[in-house]
Amino acid sequence: MVKRNPNFKSLSENYLFPEVARRVKAFKHQNPHVELISLSIGDTSQPLSATISKMLKKKSEELGTHAGYHGYGPEQGALSLRKKIAHVFYSDTISPEEIFISDGAKCDIGRLQLLFGAQASIAVQDPTYPVYVDSKLIVGCHPIAYLPCTPQNNFFPDPKLLPAVDLLYLCSPNNPTGSTATKEQLKSIVSWAKKNGALIVYDAAYAAFIQDPDLPKSIYEIAGAKEVAIEVSSFSKFAGFTGIRLGWTVIPKGLRFEQYESVHQDYTRLITTFFNGASILSQAGAEAALSENGLEEIQRTINFYMENASLIRHALQIKGYKIYGGMNAPYLWVDFGEKKSWELFQHLMEETHLITTPGSGFGLCGEGFLRFSAFGTRQNIQKAIKHIETKWPRSLELMSPLPI
Ligand code: PLP
Repeated sequence: MVKRNPNFKSLSENYLFPEVARRVKAFKHQNPHVELISLSIGDTSQPLSATISKMLKKKSEELGTHAGYHGYGPEQGALSLRKKIAHVFYSDTISPEEIFISDGAKCDIGRLQLLFGAQASIAVQDPTYPVYVDSKLIVGCHPIAYLPCTPQNNFFPDPKLLPAVDLLYLCSPNNPTGSTATKEQLKSIVSWAKKNGALIVYDAAYAAFIQDPDLPKSIYEIAGAKEVAIEVSSFSKFAGFTGIRLGWTVIPKGLRFEQYESVHQDYTRLITTFFNGASILSQAGAEAALSENGLEEIQRTINFYMENASLIRHALQIKGYKIYGGMNAPYLWVDFGEKKSWELFQHLMEETHLITTPGSGFGLCGEGFLRFSAFGTRQNIQKAIKHIETKWPRSLELMSPLPI
């Protein structure tokens, strides 16, 4: 018999969202007539913009002709798209050759683990997007350092307290806390990485939701970051490509391993071995997204989601809850003090029919929090607000033990 890869034993039994889905299914089975409103998974709800959708149609028609048919493209992605990404997101401070187009940020996070291998030690923010941890456990576990990110440190690790690790994962705007790193915070981390020979893996999948012009949308806004940082990003939340699939990773040419070998060269080797390029349809859609009209239309959708965030925030504030995030991110992180996240989740589902995401599913420091997503339809958000207004206890009432 084939032996199981022992690394899979280190993974926890249930990934967060399947567990949420399991509990929802069990509740619905027992209460088939109750309508549950979900503010849980961070999937987009608004249609693609007209410019993107027209381009997808045009491109697929072209592919149905002899003249317009196209097979494999370059593994790293179309140069025209790489140039547009370099221009729109990095004001041409990054070269197109440093950009690798992919089928999404999540897949790239997995590929980066292969690049660094089992021996690389990592540190993650706690709470964290679970994929950094699980992908590490799958390639092989060197102890993982969890860096508490709580209201006490503004959800950002103090560089003075960082352990010696090879890779530091940072996510800003953050999933799940909705907090966004300032330039000062990133500067301190970049200089820590330089001093300690570490690399930063910076996940900017939600950068487009930043409203405050003083907050950095990319780690490369910080001087010297090109020597120590990889950036992963995505069209998923930015342009509604969660189903279409498109992301990218920036590997600056100056990044070096210990013996001065090129990280860019190894990543190129990895991509050309494991990946045959993102779909040319999604790449055509992405180019349309980055046109003048595409960007304008996308901005309207982002504004719409941010209005959702402010509606939820307002409803929760009136009830007296302590809320973080939701200003420069599509997630709100709500503080329930001493309460256990899964108990809160269950209680609020059963009593008020609202589905949220338990904070403890993102790490120990998420205990006592729930995450609210602003990606719903307006109808969904309005229904959720009605539930909060009419069925939710006030913050103080939740301080007594939950009847579960
Ligand atoms: N990074 C973060 C922080 C995310 O929250 C998500 C998706 O929810 C991803 C990456 C995955 O993005 P993609 O859809 O491009 O794989």
